[in-house]
Amino acid sequence: MYGKGIANGLWVTFKHFFNTYIDDIRYAGRKYVNKENFQVRQGLKTQGAFTVQYPDEKIAVPERFRFTPFLITEDQDPAHMGEDWCTSCGICAKVCPPQCIWIVRGSDPVTGRPVPQPEAFFIDIDICMNCGFCAEFCPFDAIKMDHDYEMASYDRTGYHIHDKQKLSKPLSYWKTIAPTTALEEAVDRGGWEHSDNIKAMKKAGKTAAAPTKENMWPSRTLLQLAEEAAAEQETPAPVAEAPATASAPKATAPASTEAAPAAGGAKPKFDKQAMLAKIREKKANK
Ligand code: SF4
Ligand code: SF4
Repeated sequence: MYGKGIANGLWVTFKHFFNTYIDDIRYAGRKYVNKENFQVRQGLKTQGAFTVQYPDEKIAVPERFRFTPFLITEDQDPAHMGEDWCTSCGICAKVCPPQCIWIVRGSDPVTGRPVPQPEAFFIDIDICMNCGFCAEFCPFDAIKMDHDYEMASYDRTGYHIHDKQKLSKPLSYWKTIAPTTALEEAVDRGGWEHSDNIKAMKKAGKTAAAPTKENMWPSRTLLQLAEEAAAEQETPAPVAEAPATASAPKATAPASTEAAPAAGGAKPKFDKQAMLAKIREKKANK
């Protein structure tokens, strides 16, 4: 019959249109808000039109989603808190197709010899084509692809050239956005720690705990340590021992734990205030 194809096409369009309302009723406005609903939406059984009312509605991104790269910083090992996993080997900069990564290798201030840490790290995310080669080739799992895609800005000059401060995010962030991949990588490394730490443990005759979903989260992360440090700062300082003369006023311990030497004269493991300031700064710059 002449025009049958057009009628069929219109029927299919009408079915999609109608099913959209059925889908809306079924999910009651929760179509894109959680992983399960999102998977149904992405699967073969989904029905209806696919328009998303962005930015009111946002599609949850799948774990393998990649946008711009970021650098992993340590937030588990108290001895290396806040340190970059990057060793400034330069492989990512070499493999980057549009050549938008710049790295300045750090050097020892005394000897001037190069150290395996980046002094500066820049990625021009306006040039980055989100290919993920840098993350794929990094031998230290130190650079990963982020899920944050809302980066629009009116600044056409420097805002999208991300420096080390802007690029650095804790390992726990990577575990949150990509738990399956993070676990696979940890299994390949032989532990949740940085590969150098695992090697050092092996040399010392210790073995890192086999990575599992259960031991994925350490008892205290960087953020928790910083919160504990902040709570410690807010706690009123204890009253010092009474002096020998009863008439003399009671001296109080210094309010700042940084000002006071640690018990037994031992150096604190890390500068809590500096770490806290760093986290606040990172959050403010996000
Ligand atoms: S991010 Fe990885 S590949 Fe790039 S310089 Fe650092 S360690 Fe090397
Ligand atoms: S994702 Fe691709 S283009 Fe972007 S910095 Fe990495 S290698 Fe370069």
